[in-house]
Amino acid sequence: MNGAAQEGCLFCRIARGEIPVARIHEDDDVIAFLDIRPIREGHLLIVPKAHYDYFEDIPAGIAGRIMSLAQRFAGVAKRTYNVARVGFMFTGVHIAHAHAHVVPMVEDTDITSRRYIVEEAVTFRDPDVMSPDRLEKVAAKLKTALAET
Ligand SMILES: [Zn+2]
Repeated sequence: MNGAAQEGCLFCRIARGEIPVARIHEDDDVIAFLDIRPIREGHLLIVPKAHYDYFEDIPAGIAGRIMSLAQRFAGVAKRTYNVARVGFMFTGVHIAHAHAHVVPMVEDTDITSRRYIVEEAVTFRDPDVMSPDRLEKVAAKLKTALAET
């Protein structure tokens, strides 16, 4: 159900503080933390604390705050990682609790589609897990930079 916590939902549990994350930002409605399997260092997840299955279900006010935070973070990521672009997307493929990915784009293909790949047989894998120590160090750096915006 939209807005109600879902039993066993990983992001509901993170929103309730039951699972530690490398947090960059938190307020009453939104939490932002580093993806443990980053496409690139600084790969951020911005999550409404209330459970919505689909991004189109997020109330406009909270959706606007997610976008606003992503915009602030994009400036931080550009300066920190010296990238020209920062990707922003909702997919919901792995966890059915709406969440935005914000990714410093080191290469144009850092966020891409199978549809762009010519070869028929391509093997995909999850990015490597970043160690908790490393995640905390990256989070501390980015949190400080974000607070200065
Ligand atoms: Zn949830």
